[in-house]
Amino acid sequence: MPPPPERAGQAPAARVVVQPRAAASQYATPLEALRTVFGYDAFRGDQAAAIDTIVAGGDAIVLMPTGGGKSLIYQVPALVREGTGLVVSPLIALMHDQVDALRANGVRAAYLNSTQRPDERADVERAYLSGELDLIYVAPERLSSAATLALLKRGTLSVIAIDEAHCVSQWGHDFRPDYLALGGLGDDFPGVPRVALTATATEATHKEIGERLRMPQARHFVASFDRPNIQYRIAPKAEARQQLLAFIQSMRSVTDTAPAGIVYALSRKSVEQTAEFLRGKGIDALPYHAGLDASMRAAHQSRFLREDGVVMVATIAFGMGIDKPDVRFVAHIDLPKSVEGYYQETGRAGRDGEPSVAWMAYGLGDVVQQRRMIDQGEGDRAHRIRQGQHLDAMLALCETTGCRRVDLLGYFGQSSSPCGNCDTCLEPPEVWDGLIPAQKLLSTIVRLQRERNQSFGAGQLVDILRGNRTDRIVQQRHDTLATFGIGADLSEPDWRSVIRQLLARGVVVARGEYGTLAVGEAGAGVLSGATPVPLRRDVLGRTGGGSSRVRKAAASANLDAADRGLFEALRAWRAETARTQGVPAYIVFGDATLRALAEGRPASVRDLDGISGIGQKKREAYGEAVLAVIAGH
Ligand code: ADP
Ligand code: ZN
Repeated sequence: MPPPPERAGQAPAARVVVQPRAAASQYATPLEALRTVFGYDAFRGDQAAAIDTIVAGGDAIVLMPTGGGKSLIYQVPALVREGTGLVVSPLIALMHDQVDALRANGVRAAYLNSTQRPDERADVERAYLSGELDLIYVAPERLSSAATLALLKRGTLSVIAIDEAHCVSQWGHDFRPDYLALGGLGDDFPGVPRVALTATATEATHKEIGERLRMPQARHFVASFDRPNIQYRIAPKAEARQQLLAFIQSMRSVTDTAPAGIVYALSRKSVEQTAEFLRGKGIDALPYHAGLDASMRAAHQSRFLREDGVVMVATIAFGMGIDKPDVRFVAHIDLPKSVEGYYQETGRAGRDGEPSVAWMAYGLGDVVQQRRMIDQGEGDRAHRIRQGQHLDAMLALCETTGCRRVDLLGYFGQSSSPCGNCDTCLEPPEVWDGLIPAQKLLSTIVRLQRERNQSFGAGQLVDILRGNRTDRIVQQRHDTLATFGIGADLSEPDWRSVIRQLLARGVVVARGEYGTLAVGEAGAGVLSGATPVPLRRDVLGRTGGGSSRVRKAAASANLDAADRGLFEALRAWRAETARTQGVPAYIVFGDATLRALAEGRPASVRDLDGISGIGQKKREAYGEAVLAVIAGH
């Protein structure tokens, strides 16, 4: 058997250490490190300022959206300053790939975590002490051990990076008790600059990070939370699975290849069924939820990360810890519980900055179901009220007739102007006056209540309004109500659209196990005619089409046919190379680099200098092979 490939957690060959030494800095300036190691031209946004702060020895707190480029903010100072950069990350599952990605760029990186054998750990420790590491990744729980701290103190740290810093917040979903202890790192390593990073956008989190990590002097860098490369689309739900299929096919038809994507569903059953449905339609879809056994979950995750074009159908259990940069779409077939959740989940698309789509199907059933879940859920009244507010904000985003991005960023306190890259900007919805239908619905609800002491769900109400003589209508003698048939001018989908929008605004409310409808707080104004009811006109099936708009959102966007052919050839070469080396495809090269290669068609190793994402190490490792693919195409 051939010897196993070098393991990521393993440090370069161990040596007997006499005196601890610091990793010598190899680069004079941040820009030199950026260009030589990572092959990028220039820093983006706040990167340069944050890096300068750290290189000069200051602390920094960095809030930047996913894909904003947070990693370079500690990786570059670690290369420029003397010593080893310590990275605290809760995502043990990711460390392996992160270290592989750094090594592919020639950075001397390793990790310490519980998945390692003692001898592997010992090798990493020795390498650290002999100054052979630029970066060392450590799980937070290891830092609460005195032994790890003592070890780190024997070597030299250049910078301490605390990734996913929102995990320190006790109010957040991702709270990790081990993070609270990280506040002591400042005392343990005086003079070593610290940087805390997160993609969580709220002001409260950001304050809390500064306090709990005890970084009062830190400079704060707050980036715009806009993700301009993500196109937001929210479609009225009819047949969610069919719509999803049409959407995925439209993404395929413009890329000519299968894009990688994530589909979120609320229940395990729905995850399983949707994955099976997509597989039946020839899409390489895999299920992922907490009910699957660990080995299957790991296998599916690994296929998703390592292969091109896999679609993961998942509950939200799949997410944090997905570092795959070339996810081309995130689809929701059920309504997320909050705007934060939606933003976080959709944010997993397009980390590489390439065009991507966040697509969602949303309908009346979602609203009724979520209200019911809140009503019947655990927690006190205050908790339910908070959940209700989260849902209301989410519904407002779904029902807006304005720009989705303006609404989304507004939620995080950032103002912006219409984006031109969301469904409402691209295809402005028609607005119609829904006052009369709203009054018809409300008076039906009121009559049922007063005359019969009854309340019903949307289905029965629509039958009454449309004058459908179903068995249930006849049995209940609802055909004798004065409002029977007064809404026959609207179709059933129209009525569902009206009710959904009225629910979203609190004009009607859904109650109890069956989601029966009652008049809401905002209902009185509508009944009296004082409150106008502008509604958006749903156009069913609209978002599925493979229009030029979707093209804008394709990975090989803006490539002409010839370049696209070369792009695909390079992609095939990348897949093969990644397979032989046992690394995810993106570690070889990102999509943006492949696109630049397809467009630039470099003819010599020297030409490769101008291509973003090819540093010294990758030029040496892959330069010739890539040039051969280009020459042969
Ligand atoms: P985050 O951790 O904020 O989600 P990453 O650090 O993973 O983001 O960066 C996202 C992507 O952007 C990566 O593919 C990274 O290589 C790329 N990137 C970051 N900074 C730059 C830059 N200055 N120039 C070009 N690409 C960059
Ligand atoms: Zn917009």
